[in-house]
Amino acid sequence: MKKIEVDGLIIGGGGAGLMSAISAFDNKASVAIVMKSLFGKAHTVMAEGGIAAVISKDDNELLHFTDTMIGGYGINDWRKVWVMVKEGKNIIKFLEERGCIFDRDEKGNILPRAFGGHSRKRTLHVKDQTGLAIMRVLQDEILKRDIKIFEKTMVVKIFVKNKKVVGALAIDFVNGEFIFFQTKFIIIATGGCGQIYKYTTNSKDVTGDGIYLAYDCGAELADMEFIQFHPTCMIEPEEKRGVLITEAVRGEGGILINKFGERFMKSAKNPDGTPKYRGRFNVPELETRDVVARAIEEQYEIGNGPVELIISKNAWRKKVKELKISTKFKILVDENLLLDDKKIKEKLSSTYEQMLKFANLDITKDGIPVRPAQHYMMGGIKTDEKNSTNIKGLFAAGECSSGIHGANRLGSNSLLDILIEGLIAGKEAAKYSKKTKFENINEEEIKKEIKNVEKIFERNKGISYLKIREKMQEIMQNYVGIKRNEKKLKFALKEIKKLQRLAEKISLKDKELKGNISLQEALETKFMLKICEVIIKSCLERKESRGAHYREDYPYLDNKNWLKRIVISKGKIKKIKVEKIP
Ligand code: FAD
Repeated sequence: MKKIEVDGLIIGGGGAGLMSAISAFDNKASVAIVMKSLFGKAHTVMAEGGIAAVISKDDNELLHFTDTMIGGYGINDWRKVWVMVKEGKNIIKFLEERGCIFDRDEKGNILPRAFGGHSRKRTLHVKDQTGLAIMRVLQDEILKRDIKIFEKTMVVKIFVKNKKVVGALAIDFVNGEFIFFQTKFIIIATGGCGQIYKYTTNSKDVTGDGIYLAYDCGAELADMEFIQFHPTCMIEPEEKRGVLITEAVRGEGGILINKFGERFMKSAKNPDGTPKYRGRFNVPELETRDVVARAIEEQYEIGNGPVELIISKNAWRKKVKELKISTKFKILVDENLLLDDKKIKEKLSSTYEQMLKFANLDITKDGIPVRPAQHYMMGGIKTDEKNSTNIKGLFAAGECSSGIHGANRLGSNSLLDILIEGLIAGKEAAKYSKKTKFENINEEEIKKEIKNVEKIFERNKGISYLKIREKMQEIMQNYVGIKRNEKKLKFALKEIKKLQRLAEKISLKDKELKGNISLQEALETKFMLKICEVIIKSCLERKESRGAHYREDYPYLDNKNWLKRIVISKGKIKKIKVEKIP
């Protein structure tokens, strides 16, 4: 086992992790950053649509704050939201000064696009490759600093003594060795946990490790019942199911139609005859994601699928002919608001290419069949406005940290969130490290943990982790999805507990540390099973419907009893402790 001493360890090489490392270093802390991914290749590169920030004359911070709070159904941590919207402009300046130049109009002014739930056009973008452009800037900034980078390295344990961070144990899969990082602080920036679902937009290493590690060392989790399903994801070919079609398509005028060519979100009415969906800018497809996802899913439930997303004028005209769409449905669509071929290739170049490559589908000629898939975790590690947890020296930033988005996240608010949280976490952690000393750890504790990991090599005949993983994904997809109820949730809990027991019998063929992807995935599977349990317990607890959490048996918002957050932590004797806070 190698031993490394640094003031702070940053776990995660996405936008939040890189920004945390830059910020901690600039505030005079020595830092190392570890990531399962390759440097610069973390999940954040997949973000396409854009980053929200107040830059237009008709916009202001209070409006952005209000939209975010309404989008989150009022249970967001308002202090954190306020910090985020206030800092937006500075982050944009930071990025542009370092080469991330956002798309502009002919006069040279930044040209933001519309996104669901935002009352102003405030989603700044670099075509539809915004995450990549941001990551390139952060990567350059890291390389300019003396920051140690560990790629393909997975943290498996955080050590805490008297509720204070001591260090972390990681497996370096490149060199095939364990590393113990002795630290004063740790910033967890490990992203969400989309891989617990069968259909997800998230990349392979988004397995919620940081959320598990935080829980395991005694930190609190919050809002775990709120899981965002992105409305528009690919459904065919089957192996690409879940791949995201960016909200930018709807932001640029894309509409949703059912198998009859009906723009169902435009035609839907309340019992009193008023429109059921209004959406921002009077576009029903720009309702918040929870609402659009449920509307699409309901079309499938009543047999009106497949639902198609249409952005092209030509594609709409073709559909009208093919389906012989009646005037009643034709008047629901304003053809002038759809795009021509040139504009599609200019504004949505990645989506255009993605669809050609993955589905052999030309979006200038055809609609895209879509259905919701898991996309984002509103819940995660409970942090305050300094991004600090209830454990001294433990911070969290980005998608793994909770509070900003409440019950539902607005599109393009995540890229802003991860950068601001990273900035704050780094600064506050460095401040903390100046007034604290390294804690000693008993080596036996580390050895015990290493043995615990290696136990998996001792078994020659056991269960395949892949089978357990697949079963877990099926259960979460079918019983803890967009619509939940007590019966489904209780069944899911029972099944997940069974899988937890089976996971104790996992065996692997490859018994080396070096390059052992199976070991990484087996450990991830164990972590994910615990997160599933926490999620289901939170879902059972919240007996109302709010944002992304929809209960068929409690279909209404209950502000009288439920303007509360559910907080989960490790209780005594392996039990999960559930609390509610206003
Ligand atoms: P990530 O980028 O997920 O990085 C996590 C890092 O942690 C990775 O390096 C991973 O390897 C590492 N890690 C995990 N576990 C461990 C461990 N045990 N040990 C060591 N390292 C570990 N948001 C927007 O605001 N606008 C958009 O346009 C947008 N588009 C999106 C499009 C897609 C397809 C997807 C999937 C998401 C999109 N989002 C968007 C959401 C946004 O991209 C994410 O929420 C955000 O990038 C998360 O960043 P992060 O830094 O928190 O985590």
